[in-house]
Amino acid sequence: MSNILVYAETRGAELRKVALEAVTAARKLADAAGGGEVHALLCGPAGIAARAEQLGTYGADVAIVVENAGFERFAREAVAATLAERAKSGGFRAVVLGFSAQGRDLGPRVAAKLDAPIASDVTSIEAAGDALVVKHPGFANKVVVTLQVTGSPVVISTRPAAFTPAENPKSIRTETAQAAADPSAEKVTVKELQEGGKGKLDLGEAPVIVSGGRGLKSAENFKLVEDLAAAFGNAAVGATRAVTDDGWRPHSEQIGQTGRQVSPQLYIAVGISGAIQHLAGMRTSKTIVAINKDKEAPIFKVADYGIVGDVLEVVPALTEAVRQAKAGH
Ligand SMILES: Cc1cc2nc3c(=O)[nH]c(=O)nc-3n(C[C@H](O)[C@H](O)[C@H](O)COP(=O)(O)OP(=O)(O)OC[C@H]3O[C@@H](n4cnc5c(N)ncnc54)[C@H](O)[C@@H]3O)c2cc1C
Repeated sequence: MSNILVYAETRGAELRKVALEAVTAARKLADAAGGGEVHALLCGPAGIAARAEQLGTYGADVAIVVENAGFERFAREAVAATLAERAKSGGFRAVVLGFSAQGRDLGPRVAAKLDAPIASDVTSIEAAGDALVVKHPGFANKVVVTLQVTGSPVVISTRPAAFTPAENPKSIRTETAQAAADPSAEKVTVKELQEGGKGKLDLGEAPVIVSGGRGLKSAENFKLVEDLAAAFGNAAVGATRAVTDDGWRPHSEQIGQTGRQVSPQLYIAVGISGAIQHLAGMRTSKTIVAINKDKEAPIFKVADYGIVGDVLEVVPALTEAVRQAKAGH
């Protein structure tokens, strides 16, 4: 029986969804390994302690709260030092964090500080005696690599959306702590944050993604994709690189090998051929629907449902059907 340490990722005064996913993954692992505790490190500006309750709802036993104005923005060196320091305090079998932009940066830093093995971007974690067995999609998601990781602690980062946050309420104990390094003395500082589309769902967090490709013919026709996303109400808009390179959509919406990697519940590919570089970013989606006029398009090989037809006709009809379904008709 041993404990798991989680990095509860924040942005400003809010918890990120990957934090709840990491807590869920850690809870499952702790229970499967004999019932250890889940300790979550929560770094943020004054007031972040109020988020501890939510971590308890998803299965954390202890919240280690570090309030510091320097954590208003991501402070990689101070967070890594604080996480490693806590991990060194002993008794932790694993350090779990999300494979988000922050997690990609933090994971190797923490592993280096602990001289610990790291498994990144994993989609499952199981205990197997003294080892942990994890799965990691590799080679642009064409293979799933099974890794056996030994050592204590090990550092593991979880692929966003691979673990669905599951409530498992605990009466969380809160402990306040100091940062192990001063966040205002970072060598790399975040000067500015540009939010791509305020109020819009983040691609990594949206349960539904409607994504468009060159088959839409013009930037103006992307309105059809936006309308379909709006009809769902919980959808984000994505795009292929062909589209973002042509300036039809911002690069922040690009999905694929050189863009965002996503695993929503539902991915709707509109006028997308299914090039390997695009599939690398979305083939782990739970359900894939493809609309393409070419029945031989490679996207149909990974699709669960395919519609062969002109997007300019199919998408408005689909949008209307979703609106009707949402309205309960
Ligand atoms: C190093 C490298 C990295 C890359 N990284 C990425 C990446 O991260 N993400 C990415 O997406 N791509 C990436 N690419 C580009 C990738 O190879 C493809 O060129 C790109 O994904 C194609 O985009 P598309 O599907 O929109 O366009 P196309 O391949 O041109 O496909 C358009 C599709 O629309 C269909 N169509 C046309 N008209 C209609 C219509 N009226 N109704 C219905 N269907 C229609 C066509 O049948 C076709 O299948 C990368 C390439 C390289 C070399």
